[in-house]
Amino acid sequence: MDAVTVIATKRDGGQLSDDQIDWVVDGYTRGLVADEQMAALAMAILLRGMTPRETARWTHAMIASGERLDLSSVPRPTVDKHSTGGVGDKITLPLTPLVAACGAAVPQLSGRGLGHTGGTLDKLESIPGFRATLSNVEFLEQLRTVGAAICAAGEGLAPADRKLYALRDVTATVEAIPLIASSIMSKKIAEGTGALVLDVKVGSGAFMKSVESARELAEAMVELGAAHGVATSALLTDMSTPLGLAVGNAVEVAEAVEVLAGGGPEDVVALTVALAREMLTAAGLSDVDPAEVLRGGRAMDSWRAMVQAQGGDPDASMPAASETETVRAVADGYVSTVDAYAIGVAAWRLGAGRARKEDSVSAAAGVLLYRKPGDSVTAGDVLYELRTDDASRIPAALAAADGAVVVTHAAPAHTPLVLDRVG
Ligand code: URA
Repeated sequence: MDAVTVIATKRDGGQLSDDQIDWVVDGYTRGLVADEQMAALAMAILLRGMTPRETARWTHAMIASGERLDLSSVPRPTVDKHSTGGVGDKITLPLTPLVAACGAAVPQLSGRGLGHTGGTLDKLESIPGFRATLSNVEFLEQLRTVGAAICAAGEGLAPADRKLYALRDVTATVEAIPLIASSIMSKKIAEGTGALVLDVKVGSGAFMKSVESARELAEAMVELGAAHGVATSALLTDMSTPLGLAVGNAVEVAEAVEVLAGGGPEDVVALTVALAREMLTAAGLSDVDPAEVLRGGRAMDSWRAMVQAQGGDPDASMPAASETETVRAVADGYVSTVDAYAIGVAAWRLGAGRARKEDSVSAAAGVLLYRKPGDSVTAGDVLYELRTDDASRIPAALAAADGAVVVTHAAPAHTPLVLDRVG
């Protein structure tokens, strides 16, 4: 077997055999296939695609590159959620403790942000003391006792994906549907969850810009889950506008805590409850009403227990930004658009995200929206506020957000949050 033949097969539109896929994924993980060869193969896959059989084998090979966790000692059904990434997407924070409070265990292995999309671990690390790295033993113990853990995937899980994802990121090959599907599903299957709900984001702030491409990705992932014995379903949800009013790290944690306390923005509450219902159904707990558990305060108890178990202080005051700048409406009317991508880039430039994976993030930086699509405004009203620790970042953030909020005379048509379901 040699890498050049494997690359040429895909370049010319052929199908890779199971043996070729096993060989190239294993060889790349062990350093026998060079970065430039895997980069060429990833680009050929992006341009030529893979059949469902090839995607399934690729996923299998990535799982086989590392360990698969055994959660059978957890005395509750296990169910996880994965979002394909968006702006203001803090749903994991209220959802994980909510589903735990409903009787399931949620083994949530999360990532850090890159580019304009935020990372759950960056958000949680704005809580003083919070530890995002747990050993497998600690992770299992927390699932047994609290029923909820949100932490970084250990080095041993799907190492092929870690290496390939970093390569795709710098070779413009992230967007290949078979590579996204196998990347997400190899990590989730290796983590050992019994069931999985996917939140596939659609719109300017997401990888998938159209409902059709999001449905194709969702179908590929649902099929991969079923093939590996993980009951998987997906919701396709709108990401043309940021979720909630807060985009950043500490500001998103604060908004998640508001939801757990029974308040918070309507869209964040609605999506948290919709995903919780999907997860509970997948876990065989469909008789529990997550909206009632949220109202009753038990999800907040689970949140506090989870944060404390990971070294965080749920009562600590959150870091505050030293510099702020507001942007105001210049005319009366209705907000018709708040562009997710532009707001995500503004938050990133304020310091909430990183440009390279080695960069650190600011806990306090971010954007607070004062208006969402459908809201009425009067000239002079604040549309959004920029927050940062470093005033020199404000001009670039203002430029990124310029035109993100559009005000029109007529109220816009309502866009539903949940666009479709697959599974
Ligand atoms: N998230 C992942 O984990 N992998 C991808 O390829 C894209 C998004």
